Amino acid sequence: MREGRRWFAPLAWVNGAWARDVLLVAGDDGRWSEVRAGCTAQERQDAQALAGPALPGLVNGHSHAFQRAIAGLTERSAQGREDFWSWRDRMYAAALRITPEQLEAIATFLYAELLQAGYTHVCEFHYLHNDVDGKPYADPLEMSLALVRAAQAAGIGLTLLPTLYMRSGFGAKGLREDQRRFASTPASVLRIAEAVRKLAPADGTLTAGIALHSLRAVDPGALQEAAQAAHAAGMPVHIHISEQQQEVDDCLREHGQRPIEWLLQNAKLDARWNLVHATHASREEMDALQRTGASIVLCPSTEANLGDGVFDLPHWLALRGAWSIGSDSHVTRRWTEELRLLEYSQRFALRQRNVSARAAGQESTAGVLFERALAGGSAAAGLPLAGLAAGQRADFSVVDTTAYALAGVPSSHLLDALVFSSPDAGCGAMAVGGASPSLTVEAAQFVKAMHALWLSHGRMHVSIK
Ligand code: ZN
Repeated sequence: MREGRRWFAPLAWVNGAWARDVLLVAGDDGRWSEVRAGCTAQERQDAQALAGPALPGLVNGHSHAFQRAIAGLTERSAQGREDFWSWRDRMYAAALRITPEQLEAIATFLYAELLQAGYTHVCEFHYLHNDVDGKPYADPLEMSLALVRAAQAAGIGLTLLPTLYMRSGFGAKGLREDQRRFASTPASVLRIAEAVRKLAPADGTLTAGIALHSLRAVDPGALQEAAQAAHAAGMPVHIHISEQQQEVDDCLREHGQRPIEWLLQNAKLDARWNLVHATHASREEMDALQRTGASIVLCPSTEANLGDGVFDLPHWLALRGAWSIGSDSHVTRRWTEELRLLEYSQRFALRQRNVSARAAGQESTAGVLFERALAGGSAAAGLPLAGLAAGQRADFSVVDTTAYALAGVPSSHLLDALVFSSPDAGCGAMAVGGASPSLTVEAAQFVKAMHALWLSHGRMHVSIK
């Protein structure tokens, strides 16, 4: 076996705490073959010294890459209803127009931004399957492969989640005209997932699972069919659930049960399941969900931006429920900001401080948030991504301790300052599957795609305000 890459970190986050003098050795399967704290000068002499503290790479558990194209462009009042559903109509302006080339340019830029912020893997909840007129592309993988190429160009790991989307709401017969690009069947999304899994390189940086868009968009029979097939293939399953109160009310009207309550009874939930948002989960639903081993994917910046509501984080933390974070609509691309917002939403609501640390019975708020988000990433990705430990994928990011935000901060409080002392510090260097991505963010193709989508002669030609 070829000698893997070796790094030396003066400080590294190992097993939930900072460890000193850590030797990191990656094998050519893209995983850590050795992670050892307290190594001697002799043991590390042939290792590449890192310029700062090394953190494990974090999984971004929920992304719709194309929505990067509307970040910052939906913040003007249209004088009518202003809520999730009116935002969704504006979001469809991007969904209906974007070409495979534009998607690739936007996703490449986005994924480079995510890498720079310390994410090393992204789970892409992908439902733009068809051409702009709603007809299938000649190659059913056209849009999926644009995302795969984008991830590979940026150097980030990818779990593609081709998404089943069949109807416009509970009990509806089919899709709305403006949802024509989402049309799919259990067989079509499973075919895409299988095809992408066949492309996976040996370093473990690409895989696929499936997503079920939501209970409103997938009928019960199709949900069970797709989930069972994914389960048989050992793939992760993601679903949007309980994000909006209206969805909870519609589900109660249709099924006489709350969304998670219904899912618990009608799907075989286990550790492969990832419930995205779960904002309105009741304590009873959380108690039952935790017993299945399923994870929740929290998307704090998007949930704030869309006015979704506040998740009962203290209860889920006290249960030791599994969760990861996602940047979803990408109004921010930094995990530090997601974790800060997650804690601050609780402080606003409860008028207390250090809510997450207290709920978990630990000392450091940032430590609890980071450790739990890290632990949940593997389930979201369907890959071993749980930190700096032998057998996990060889990912890390190096904290830029020369950043103003971290000036004078003792190493014991580095993580606290990273999360709670903005503006955020950047990332110095990183590894993904034992390889080092370039960390340059090239904006030209992104800007060109944005202009083609929205601008002519410097002015907006499509109204998505
Ligand atoms: Zn989403």
